[in-house]
Amino acid sequence: MTARLPASTIPDAVSSAAGRAPIYVTRPLMPPLRDFLPYLERIWASGILTNGGPLHAQLESALCEYLGIDYISLFSNGTLALLTAIQALRISGEVITTPYSFVATAHSLLWNGIKPVFVDIDPGTLNMNPDRIQAAITPRTTAIMPVHCYGTPCDVERIERIADDYGLKVVYDAAHAFGVRRGGRSILRHGDLSVLSFHATKVFTTFEGGAVVCSDAKTKQRLDRLKNFGYVDEVTVVAPGINGKMNEIQAACGLLQLEHIDDALQRRAEIARVYRDRLGTVNGIHFLPFAVDVKANFAYFPILVSRPYRRTRDELYAHLRARGIFARRYFYPLVSDFPMYRELPSADHTNLPVATDAAERILCLPIYPSLSEAEQETVIRAIVTD
Ligand SMILES: *Cc1c(COP(=O)(O)O)cnc(C)c1O
Repeated sequence: MTARLPASTIPDAVSSAAGRAPIYVTRPLMPPLRDFLPYLERIWASGILTNGGPLHAQLESALCEYLGIDYISLFSNGTLALLTAIQALRISGEVITTPYSFVATAHSLLWNGIKPVFVDIDPGTLNMNPDRIQAAITPRTTAIMPVHCYGTPCDVERIERIADDYGLKVVYDAAHAFGVRRGGRSILRHGDLSVLSFHATKVFTTFEGGAVVCSDAKTKQRLDRLKNFGYVDEVTVVAPGINGKMNEIQAACGLLQLEHIDDALQRRAEIARVYRDRLGTVNGIHFLPFAVDVKANFAYFPILVSRPYRRTRDELYAHLRARGIFARRYFYPLVSDFPMYRELPSADHTNLPVATDAAERILCLPIYPSLSEAEQETVIRAIVTD
């Protein structure tokens, strides 16, 4: 483990940013407010606020078309979507997952009484390493839950082959993968289910929100019932479902986002291109490789920091903060290092050398559609010359 700076040595960013507004790792895409008002008028006129209203239905079909998927069930947030996806497939026992993610991935297993089994990641993609899956399978294993980390597609073919061989389900945490395609096809079409997050920090947002993507009408119906307490009709409840429904204001927000999403993705791609051009020659700053057949969403711009760069990752993080630049260490600490997981045998660092190393070197730089050229220049200069 490299030394960590104590929090008290990190200067207060806002006060020391020389009068400039802070630059966060992300900012939500905010379409013009006036364009939101007609949606609000529709909601006020209909008096339908939730429970599968007209805007909810409209967003489901618009997302199926935009994403190139067959079925989607909208949720009030991504974590409830993950919890419900696991319920829908009746997953139990043990599930193989990655420690290199947001904590909700493993939490969704714990909330379902499932034991997470962590396997190491691939150094090239920072996604679950398929080579490590087989050795982690036990008689209690029922599923694999990989993450398309930063929107980089997992090795879906190899994961599928292993799952088929051992009769396991696959649920992708696709919280980062909105709009990502590989070979022209949505990455969300792989596995039994894929789960999206529409949280404010994500590429496409409904303030809070999420969805489960599936490939058949029966599963869609099951998800729809589970997110509404298990209700089938007024007098029939078939499962101990939860309240995971997306409301009409969230759906309206999503419909408005969709009108602007292509421009937003284009701007993200441009920002990523500038970072790559300007930081590509800095010794000790590394990028994750981009696959040519992938339409990326540039949800994040991760860099890996190592010698001979003149600062450690944590020194660079503090240096940027002192200049009002809030880069984030996604993902540090590893999920497997949190108290509810660290006693698991699979959480041992000797089992997770690649993830442990990545967590110590990773830094995600600011990237969002409204990041100005001047702001990006400030970030680049702080890394390259200051
Ligand atoms: C954001 C995120 C989630 C949780 O989604 P919420 O909508 O915030 O509940 C789950 N997994 C990953 C990888 C995420 O980044």
